[in-house]
Amino acid sequence: MAKRRLNRRQAWRIKKIQDERIARAERKAALPEPPETGADLGPEQRGLIIAHYGTQVEVEALEGPHRGQTWRAHLRANLDSLVTGDQVIWCEGDPTGVIVAQLERKSVLSRPDPYGKLKPVAANIDQIMVVIAPLPEPHAMLIDRYLVAAETVNIEPVILLNKTDLLATDPALQQQMDDLLAIYPTLGYRILHTSSKAGGLEELHAALRERTSVFVGQSGVGKSSLVNALLPEADLRVGSLSETTSKGVHTTTTAQLFQLPSGGSLIDWDDSFAFLLGN
Ligand code: GDP
Repeated sequence: MAKRRLNRRQAWRIKKIQDERIARAERKAALPEPPETGADLGPEQRGLIIAHYGTQVEVEALEGPHRGQTWRAHLRANLDSLVTGDQVIWCEGDPTGVIVAQLERKSVLSRPDPYGKLKPVAANIDQIMVVIAPLPEPHAMLIDRYLVAAETVNIEPVILLNKTDLLATDPALQQQMDDLLAIYPTLGYRILHTSSKAGGLEELHAALRERTSVFVGQSGVGKSSLVNALLPEADLRVGSLSETTSKGVHTTTTAQLFQLPSGGSLIDWDDSFAFLLGN
């Protein structure tokens, strides 16, 4: 979508129209007949952006008869800063719906574009799971950098010690992890223990419920293994990250939101939010 420069008055008018749409959608439940927005479009309703493919998005219905179903949708002009995790007002359409307004964000993760300008990549994340493992050996400084990065964007960080199966047979390694992590609960940080190998994921399932989370951490700590264990249709997951267009070209979403069968949702991103550490 071509970018237009807006003057203040135009930007104000667009904001006003969007606010009116949001208010209308919120009042809708009280109305006898929902207002129609166009001949081929359904009524305005709340939705969640689960993937962004450039000029189109995948939106999940958050209410109405099709709640939980996903649709392909176009963006009305001036909504081009929408990202995965954004809540919106949209209308169903055949075959594609239309996003008409963006709701306020609770939080946003941004990354610098090639010109150094910050661009949002995911919105409304409740918690950042900082994944570490006995191997590769974790360093307090790296953990701290992730914690600071999460605090900076006002998203709660949770430390997740994965590969706990490696500790069961190695008391020295267990002691090393205990020493490294001892300080964090005293600072108010939660520590979860998981093993995607030994099937110890109960604590994680509970922590993810009713929240939107992302996994971060250095390569090799087991992030992909955890995501695959949480999403049983792992092959589907990988396949759905890219999309074949009518021209046979692949367009890829930068971030994708998955509803977890055990409750909660996960935003998965191809480079694991390494930019949180400035790389
Ligand atoms: P990522 O780079 O953080 O996504 O890590 P991967 O998921 O690719 O895992 C890196 C390696 O660690 C792979 O060889 C996995 O099989 C292994 N791994 C992942 N989770 C566990 C675990 O819970 N226990 C053990 N022992 N190995 C694991």
